[in-house]
Amino acid sequence: PLVLGIETSCDETGVGIVRGRTLLANAIASSMDEHARFGGVVPEVAARAHLEAMTPTIERALADADVELRDLDAIAVTCGPGLAGALMVGVAAAKALAVSLGKPLYAVNHLVGHVGADLLQGPSLRGAVGEAGELELPTIALLVSGGHTSLLLVRDLVSDVEMLGETIDDAAGEAFDKVARLLGLPYPGGPQIDRVAEGGDPNAIRFPRGLSLPKDMEKHRYDFSFSGLKTSVARWVEKRVGAGEEVPVADVAASFREAVADVLLTKALNACKDLGVPRLLLGGGVVANARVRELAQERALAAGVELRVPPLSLCTDNGAMIASLGAQLVAAGYAPSSLDFGADSTLPVQDIQVR
Ligand code: ATP
Ligand code: MG
Ligand code: FE
Repeated sequence: PLVLGIETSCDETGVGIVRGRTLLANAIASSMDEHARFGGVVPEVAARAHLEAMTPTIERALADADVELRDLDAIAVTCGPGLAGALMVGVAAAKALAVSLGKPLYAVNHLVGHVGADLLQGPSLRGAVGEAGELELPTIALLVSGGHTSLLLVRDLVSDVEMLGETIDDAAGEAFDKVARLLGLPYPGGPQIDRVAEGGDPNAIRFPRGLSLPKDMEKHRYDFSFSGLKTSVARWVEKRVGAGEEVPVADVAASFREAVADVLLTKALNACKDLGVPRLLLGGGVVANARVRELAQERALAAGVELRVPPLSLCTDNGAMIASLGAQLVAAGYAPSSLDFGADSTLPVQDIQVR
């Protein structure tokens, strides 16, 4: 089926078009620059930016895919989880399109969309890491971005997704952004820390791995925590500054990056081992991190786990992943959503589609 997907859960206005598993267009506008001076995504600013970017981004996707609205078989839209005001802009746009065109509308889960990204294939994705196409199931999925840090067990993309664990405080990307800020690096902090860390020693400072003590591992085996790590970095830096010493920024960045990558992959591979699932899929903007990628490859290889990493353009928030999930729902014969659904900022992952 030919499906157009709309994504507005955070700061990306994404409109993607797929035909089944084939990617035809993935148009994106981001309001990231507007959030830079605040050091994080400002919900009201993101929502207004979505409103302005929506129509041009839809038009760009249609032009890129060389299709017309009337050719579409269905429309899919992210209805949660995410920022409520941001989600509402996408949902309103999708409903308007669906009603005016008389097309079925599928309201879908953003997190499951990240997994759906992995199905996509097409000429524009040639040379990407991993073999796109058929998604072997079950798989463990580690989704890490500025807004979420989740470990999922995916038994079936359209009918059976389970949350194994998630962050109990900050998201991993958020931790990168906050630590970058306290090191005086600009927003978004992830790429900055990644760059600076290349020149530092990852073993210079032993920063804590959140929720990894034996007592935590009973209740929180698959959960994450990054606020303690952030505080630990802040204290370490303050102490040096207080003593009038120079802060070894590269060592701090490298040691912090190591702590995040280590805890993410330790928990993800624990899940693979515990549940006997020899597959791990990565998603989310933090997958851009060089050390996260490297450690994922090392540890997956050592554990005999097949690693799948979609190309970065499909890891960060985008409309194509939403279209991909929508296309799977259509292909599986699911009925469209009724038009009275709303945006749900805390939509649970097992609600793959909101009817
Ligand atoms: P959502 O949480 O809804 O997926 P988001 O906009 O927060 O939305 P993304 O756009 O997927 O998430 O990713 C942005 C985040 O990824 C930011 O927090 C950014 O700092 C982080 N990031 C980007 N590149 C890197 C990198 N090289 N290393 C670490 N973090 C990175
Ligand atoms: Mg973003
Ligand atoms: Fe996301």
